[in-house]
Amino acid sequence: MLNLVIFGAPGSGKGTQSEKLIEKYNLAHISTGDVLRGEIKKGSDLGKSAKQYIDKGQLVPDDVIIGMLAEELETKKDKAGVIFDGFPRTLAQGEALDKMLKEKGQEVSAVICLDVDDAELVKRLLQRGRTDDNLDTIKSRLEVYKNQTSPLMDYYQKAGKTAHIKGVGSVDEIFEKISQAVDKTK
Ligand code: AMP
Repeated sequence: MLNLVIFGAPGSGKGTQSEKLIEKYNLAHISTGDVLRGEIKKGSDLGKSAKQYIDKGQLVPDDVIIGMLAEELETKKDKAGVIFDGFPRTLAQGEALDKMLKEKGQEVSAVICLDVDDAELVKRLLQRGRTDDNLDTIKSRLEVYKNQTSPLMDYYQKAGKTAHIKGVGSVDEIFEKISQAVDKTK
């Protein structure tokens, strides 16, 4: 099984590249952001509570996210693997993912880190125009990424699982570099 984590700041291109990866490698796609937006649309209790964090650019609490992820993972069994997009975002989530995969006799195969500088990220997010893509929320999400999410990169680096890809250039150029990194893990 190919279990890929696509890692990078908001706006680094995780969603776009995930779409291409799922097709090429026959993977299931789990985007915690997409699941949360779906819950908000449905008006569920989970959605209502998550919206308060999302609107402020803060992380939804680990226990909520980890429970949600475990449920999602159970529904994705008929593919060659999974791409985790926007998860894990904290060390606790990373450890929880390792545990969940270990119980299935699996592990994270590789962590694709998309490196993009802050000025470019802000520019892209403002162009994207999602409701949480306003300047205040963007600033807070970038801070959250630096303080809470990027420490997780050291965790994966120590495990020898990271591949750093420069996330600027055309979508296809970036995808080519990602594919090369993925092929090395197989
Ligand atoms: P995304 O679509 O990945 O940019 O996520 C949008 C928002 O959903 C984030 O700013 C967080 O508020 C929330 N979110 C998504 N994934 C997670 C996660 N793994 N942990 C905590 N919050 C998350």
